[in-house]
Amino acid sequence: ELTTIDQGIQLKDVHFSYQPGKEILHGVNINVDPGQMVALVGPTGSGKTTVMNLLNRFYDLDSGQITFDGTEIKEMDLFSLRENVGIVLQDPQLFSGTIGENIKFGKPEASDDEMIAAAQQARIHDFIMTLDDGYDTMISDENTIFSAGQKQLMSIARTIMTNPKLLILDEATSNVDTVTEAQIQAAMDNVIAGRTSFVIAHRLKTILNADKIVVLRDGQVIEEGNHQAL
Ligand code: ATP
Repeated sequence: ELTTIDQGIQLKDVHFSYQPGKEILHGVNINVDPGQMVALVGPTGSGKTTVMNLLNRFYDLDSGQITFDGTEIKEMDLFSLRENVGIVLQDPQLFSGTIGENIKFGKPEASDDEMIAAAQQARIHDFIMTLDDGYDTMISDENTIFSAGQKQLMSIARTIMTNPKLLILDEATSNVDTVTEAQIQAAMDNVIAGRTSFVIAHRLKTILNADKIVVLRDGQVIEEGNHQAL
């Protein structure tokens, strides 16, 4: 069962600079309704990753507001904010340990049944079962059991385990084979379904599926709407 939010996410007139005097976001407004999937698109350097960083409060705003389910995130306890936000990065870190421990990273007390269900939804279970030691296979970030695409599937499995209220997903751009591509698509559909999501989108299919497309350019929203409107 998904945990949902009632009031969505709002960025209101967000100004932000990493360094004084060098503003990167110039008054960004984005509204995400509960359960919506928003695709963030825009050229390199337009500010997509910066928006993602701010949603997770890695930095403070210069001015403006970000609200999460009705509460300004700067008023929230960092622990509870991060507990509610799940991030799937393009190049996720895996740590030394078993595959199972890596999937249970955010929820070590989870049962093996929960872990397997998450891996199935993330379309990585079948691959894990081809390994001699299955979920007990030892991995580290350096060894090469997983391809780049499969690492993203592992990260999706992890995120499904923690059942976050808000999902932030940086879609992998690396060239993956068509089978992995289809698995990533299915895994993304599963983790996004019914969950309020921000996706830094690189694939056309993701953009077409979005409830809302937000186009960033030079730190400003230049267009917003669904794909029919744009
Ligand atoms: P890409 O598609 O290449 O990931 P992006 O749209 O995510 O690009 P950002 O990474 O948000 O863009 O970068 C926006 C601007 O902020 C760029 O000019 C970048 O150089 C600058 N920037 C990003 N991170 C930092 C940082 N840690 N310190 C200083 N400037 C930064």
